Amino acid sequence: MSRHDFDLFTIGAGSGGVRASRVCANYGAKVAIAEERYFGGTCVNVGCIPKKLFSYAAHYREDFHDAAGFGWTVPEPAFHWPTLVANKDKEIARLNGVYERVLSGAGVTILKSRATIIDPHHVECGGKTYSAKHILVATGSWPTVPDIPGKELAITSNEAFFLPQLPESIVVVGGGYIAVEFASIFNGLGVRTTLVYRGKRVLRGFDAELGLKLAEEMAKKGITIRFESDFAALAKSADGGITATLKDGGTLTAGAVMYATGRKPNTRNLGLEAAGVNLATDGAIQVDKYLKSSVDSIHAIGDVTNRINLTPVATAEGMALAKTLFRGEPTEMDYANIPTAIFAIPNVATVGLSEEAAKERGHLVDIYKAGFRALRHTLSGSEEKTFMKLVVDASTQKVLGAHMMGADAGEIIQGIAIAIKCGATKAQFDSTIGIHPTAAEEFVTMREKAST
Ligand code: NDP
Repeated sequence: MSRHDFDLFTIGAGSGGVRASRVCANYGAKVAIAEERYFGGTCVNVGCIPKKLFSYAAHYREDFHDAAGFGWTVPEPAFHWPTLVANKDKEIARLNGVYERVLSGAGVTILKSRATIIDPHHVECGGKTYSAKHILVATGSWPTVPDIPGKELAITSNEAFFLPQLPESIVVVGGGYIAVEFASIFNGLGVRTTLVYRGKRVLRGFDAELGLKLAEEMAKKGITIRFESDFAALAKSADGGITATLKDGGTLTAGAVMYATGRKPNTRNLGLEAAGVNLATDGAIQVDKYLKSSVDSIHAIGDVTNRINLTPVATAEGMALAKTLFRGEPTEMDYANIPTAIFAIPNVATVGLSEEAAKERGHLVDIYKAGFRALRHTLSGSEEKTFMKLVVDASTQKVLGAHMMGADAGEIIQGIAIAIKCGATKAQFDSTIGIHPTAAEEFVTMREKAST
């Protein structure tokens, strides 16, 4: 018999915490999970899933328009925001139930309260103290808004999913994943949308051409983008909206202002510091290659470690931790070549090294590119462009990176990611027969090197 109440006590039932808890229980561990808010965490409730549903909704605007070139007469479409929100809420409630059942089905004890760490082997939850051999912190992250006067007037992605009504106009601040995704969503749903970004190019850190091309497409679709701009203050405007004062002195007025300026690890008031857990300056839990914190019995996965903040990374970390703790297989995560998609309109997806990162790492590179109007748009009349790029090591001919902007980029890059993970060369891409006519076939038919 264990001298502890549980072998594992997980704090946070998001993607990572749920996966780790379920798999640990399947390996025979006695597991408890504490959740104070919602099952499924950010991804299910205020992230990936509702965001993608909203993105589909936004895309219909173009679809109705595009249909005319194919002979369809579509009456003037009308959009009803409360229907979308209600249908989304229903689906999320279903998923909350699925997550809870997955846990109870695996024999995990579910505690619907906030938990705090008392010491390396004890947790307080719902007025009771539990002992655990291992504690897993999987508490995720929370949107941050810079400290400017009037910041409380801004919404973040958390609120955007539940707005009682759509504003007529919105300003989205930021140039990362959430900013470009939500600017696309609001614009597609008919909201006059301005994106305000402090830098010169959105999607910093991605291949530079992706950010440039995406901004071009977003602008073509009607989004106003203001680069090298930032707000100094927000205030209520006379008409009930918000007036934002720019750092250079100008003003912008809109029905709403949404900040998408990054997320912070949820580590406050969890008892971590008192238990001896080292935190980085941004509050992230510092972990070793086995996801162990500075305290042997306390582990952390997912956004709370603030490394690669993606759901599939958190779930993979959960699996690795389960093997390490309860299957006698110390398992390290492999963070190389993680594919990712940004569900802007059009989508952007990428795997491996950008041209800039490859060069920084000392590779001499061959670059291949394709830019075209997708077949569908020859009849739809849309001017949307698709862009694809391969970054190849000039000496080994290994494909180091694949980048795409265009319809279903995420679906396409997921497949390419397998080839890159396997170390495929450009010659192996070239010897692969394309599927015709698709956009994806361009990845195996790029013959001319681009100038670098
Ligand atoms: P990101 O880190 O991706 O982007 C933050 C943006 O805000 C950057 O453009 C940054 O500018 C800007 N910014 C930061 N601080 C300030 C400030 N004080 N004033 C003005 N601008 C500022 O964060 P997000 O919030 O977009 O998303 C958080 C994370 O969530 C992502 O990094 C990603 O890991 C994950 N995510 C994944 C999604 C997916 O898989 N599709 C979707 C959504 C989120 P600069 O570039 O100059 O630093």
